[in-house]
Amino acid sequence: MSDAPRGIGVSPGAAVGPVIQVRPPVRPPENEPAAADPAAEHVRIKEVFESVAVTLEERAAQADETAQQILTATALIARDKGLHKAVAKELAAGKGPTTAVTDAVGTYAAQFEALGGYFAERVTDLKDVRNRVVARLLGQEDPGVPDFHVPSVIVARDLAPAETATLDPTLVRAIVTEHGGRTSHTAILAAQMGIPAVVQYPGARAIPPGTIVAVDGDSGEVTIDPSPEYQKQLVGKRERRRAALAGSAGPGKTRDGHPVALLANIGGVDDAVSAAAQDVEGVGLFRTEFVFLSRDSAPTLAEQTQIYTDVFEPFGSRRVTVRTLDAGADKPLAFADLGPEENPALGKRGLRLQALRPELLDTQLAALGAAARATAAEVKVMAPMVATPEEAAWFARRVREHGLPSVGVMIEVPGAAILSRHVLAEVDFGSLGTNDLAQYTMAADRMEGQLSDLLDPWQPAVLQVIGHACDGAKLAGKPMGVCGEAGGDPLLALVLTGLGVASLSMAPSKVAIVRYALSLHTLAECHGMATAALAQRSAQDAHDAVCALADPSLVELL
Ligand code: PEP
Ligand code: MG
Repeated sequence: MSDAPRGIGVSPGAAVGPVIQVRPPVRPPENEPAAADPAAEHVRIKEVFESVAVTLEERAAQADETAQQILTATALIARDKGLHKAVAKELAAGKGPTTAVTDAVGTYAAQFEALGGYFAERVTDLKDVRNRVVARLLGQEDPGVPDFHVPSVIVARDLAPAETATLDPTLVRAIVTEHGGRTSHTAILAAQMGIPAVVQYPGARAIPPGTIVAVDGDSGEVTIDPSPEYQKQLVGKRERRRAALAGSAGPGKTRDGHPVALLANIGGVDDAVSAAAQDVEGVGLFRTEFVFLSRDSAPTLAEQTQIYTDVFEPFGSRRVTVRTLDAGADKPLAFADLGPEENPALGKRGLRLQALRPELLDTQLAALGAAARATAAEVKVMAPMVATPEEAAWFARRVREHGLPSVGVMIEVPGAAILSRHVLAEVDFGSLGTNDLAQYTMAADRMEGQLSDLLDPWQPAVLQVIGHACDGAKLAGKPMGVCGEAGGDPLLALVLTGLGVASLSMAPSKVAIVRYALSLHTLAECHGMATAALAQRSAQDAHDAVCALADPSLVELL
């Protein structure tokens, strides 16, 4: 490991290449004169908005499912009539065209930010539309990723989802951003595309284009002008990693044969098809709300039955764990909106929303039951955001009424983790949602990139809550899995195994290294690592303590 400055590694792998700086947005000229004919100017601006929408849709047509959703949602913003009206108002008030667009978007963005959650996240898309429109009005090229033909490292302040989603994985060796968090769009999409990525890297924007950089998506290190020796070391590490991982296949187990199922996190049919083709034992988390994020009306029973059947089919008889709609907070669904809330992450989200709109849950469970009967998959159904045993019992009753035999709950609220013995007594299994569990244990908004240190799942407080939840599961005699991002960290996977989890679910690109990590250690060694991690006072100390106990042939690959 070198002394290079670090960001947070969010997508594994290492790469070396020349930097492509994402083109920064063009600012409106200072003291831009008022439009001579505001009405005519409004028509021209609307045409530019439309041309941006068309570009985004053209990109969507060539993109995968996740990218398509993001690009289509961004194109919708470009066609938003309210936004166009806001621009007309600014023009009528005597502003020039690019200033009018910038100010109208500014007002809109402030409203989105005030709404919080999913809307606050859309602000990046809104600004992406603004930047393209302003550049086009000034006769310049769209800001963002320039055209390039040599495999390169993309460097940006932050990447708009629309930009990340349309990157060509064969030309992008790695991604480095100055902003962005562990669960930002850049992180999730990069991992899904198998591109090494580092977020929160200080000074990323100051790196001159063309500079050769070495990026380590595991450790978060970015080395500028790496010496030939370091490059060789990194390439060597990549080759060693490839060779080491190529040798391990099949079900996850520790060196002494203790099984830990290795599962995929998926968000729709395309993900299902691609994950099923990989060496995974099934699905540990199907985020069903991802399929319906851009829907205005509730999906029908027939539509849902078709989608779930298409998701289950590729897995044959493997398990597929479906999470019922986790709507609200950062993932609101238009058809399940209960109105604005002061603190959406602490509000009527997940199972709480399902209890208030039981017809949504019933339709979803009926569709899942039908799809389960139509396929050979071992379907398991779990609820998001369960806080009490009563909620677990309520959910279990409804799931079983639909003939679905295996019911579980996400353990992502500290209250449920603390009472896991009683919560799990009501169901068949638990699954730790470490993203939200870290957010709620540390009182740190997971959408806030600057709080990444608090959200680190190595925080001993988070590990202690996880440990307590696993102890409760043992007392209840029920299996506990992990489906938050922590499950894909190979060292943390050993700690989680030591704490007693039975399965780990993650982005498929992370499965091989976790399988390898397990294969090098006995269950007793995992227990030792868990004990060591729990005894520390900081996330860094916990990580270092486990690193010191882990097999060096794993550590040298990280
Ligand atoms: C979690 O909270 O860890 C989780 C897996 O669910 P999501 O990230 O969808 O909230
Ligand atoms: Mg969650």
